[in-house]
Amino acid sequence: MNSVAEPINLHTHTFLCKHASGSVKDYVANAKEKSGAILGFSDHTPLPDGRWSNVRMSMDQIQGYMDDIDRAAESSDGLLIIGGLECEYAKEYVSFYKEEILAYKTIRYLVAGIHYYKRSGSWYNAYGDITTMKDLGAYTDFILAAIDSDIYAFIAHPDLFANCYLEWDEQAVSCSKAILEAASEKKIPLEINGYGFRKPQITTQQGTRFMYPLDNFWQLAAEYDIRVICNSDAHNPLDVYESIDRSRAVAQMYNLKEIDCRELVAGF
Ligand SMILES: [Zn+2]
Ligand SMILES: [Zn+2]
Repeated sequence: MNSVAEPINLHTHTFLCKHASGSVKDYVANAKEKSGAILGFSDHTPLPDGRWSNVRMSMDQIQGYMDDIDRAAESSDGLLIIGGLECEYAKEYVSFYKEEILAYKTIRYLVAGIHYYKRSGSWYNAYGDITTMKDLGAYTDFILAAIDSDIYAFIAHPDLFANCYLEWDEQAVSCSKAILEAASEKKIPLEINGYGFRKPQITTQQGTRFMYPLDNFWQLAAEYDIRVICNSDAHNPLDVYESIDRSRAVAQMYNLKEIDCRELVAGF
């Protein structure tokens, strides 16, 4: 198993996504400084149709991203550096991910980061738009489809909906159960995302809490046979291994089993 203190992070961004700072080199330098064991890059994938281009690199930047990762891996000094991408789910992109993105030698894994979902023919943002039961249902369907697609190594922040769906009501329970059941069936790890701990807290009728990770979700997760993965979701080089201890504390609190990351990456 990952020893408690071992610095491992498979969720890292770069300046290319336009809302993070630092280059591959900067993250690697910080990881080495912190005696990192594994550093996986998972910047937001470019998309061939340019959709959501304000929060991702463009297609003509992916080669440079991969070159930077390859170069860093050549002088890794004991740090295991792995290339990947964080990918939105939409069925029209699945063949692009499989046939083009995963065909790159450098891109060894995909992270399912569902920030957009479709409802009644229109796209919505998981940050802010999930305020009704219908929205939560539509968002959940996207996570379920992502799990079902078999192209992802793990599901990032499956509890992201809690940033704007404030109540832990029947719909929240039933959608969470659906996600947990699917993850357990497909044996795909769910991420306890550390970025939530570095964002401002929100106030709900039940009191003040983090937007995510959502305690209720992870408490419920204890009833399922799932594995979790604890990541920083670094958008700043200084955060390369930040908040992972807090994510692990959530896992420990609810007795959730962490995936063995060395075993996971060996399979990439
Ligand atoms: Zn991001
Ligand atoms: Zn991310």
